[in-house]
Amino acid sequence: MRLRNITGSREVIAACPYVVQEVLQRQCPGTWGRIFGNSHPIHIEIGMGKGRFIHTMAREHPDINYVGIEKYSSVLLRAIQKMEQEELPNLKFLRMDAEEIGEVFGTGEVERIYLNFSDPWPKDRHAKRRLPSREFLKRYDRILKPEGRLEFKTDNRPLFDFAVEELDPAGWKAEVLTYDLHGDPDLVQGNVMTEYEEKFSSMGNPICKYVIRR
Ligand code: SAM
Repeated sequence: MRLRNITGSREVIAACPYVVQEVLQRQCPGTWGRIFGNSHPIHIEIGMGKGRFIHTMAREHPDINYVGIEKYSSVLLRAIQKMEQEELPNLKFLRMDAEEIGEVFGTGEVERIYLNFSDPWPKDRHAKRRLPSREFLKRYDRILKPEGRLEFKTDNRPLFDFAVEELDPAGWKAEVLTYDLHGDPDLVQGNVMTEYEEKFSSMGNPICKYVIRR
């Protein structure tokens, strides 16, 4: 499938073999092994944007199945274009709002969740929309394996401080926590940069990261 000469991201997505189509999403819980054709662990990125991080991860870890989730068709299109250039059998996409994440994964079906440079939603009244909020942690709690981990990176310090404050009330603990990922020689080893990470770290912004568990 070539994207050249095709206008309309929704139409492209509807015809794309890398995307689990919306009409089929409700059938996904408990069936990801069948979708990928193997029983490898499932790692997901929520709000993947143009998909550089998850595409690189999928290339580097062929024994892990990756699912990239993105709300907007026009953005997902860019991740699809990367797959066109380099097709990877262990990467699929979902176009959906993460609020419905519990509708597409079964209980304990996911081994790792990545949140990278999530939208900050700075107004207090929008706090529930922040992907590391306690409301979202509750959703992740159900789909994540008991030994599963969630990783979050951002250069937005107020958002990161908020995310750290949400952990205790939601029953999660930080296993790794840094306010300067790129300045930590141990933690930065093997770090895969996202599009936003490259942009903001090149401007001199320190990158915060946590890895959490229940
Ligand atoms: N993760 C990428 C990176 O680090 O380069 C993109 C970061 S961008 C700031 C945040 C992305 O998350 C956007 O593409 C946005 O559309 C997506 N997003 C925000 N809220 C979402 C939600 N509730 N469900 C799915 N995607 C969402």
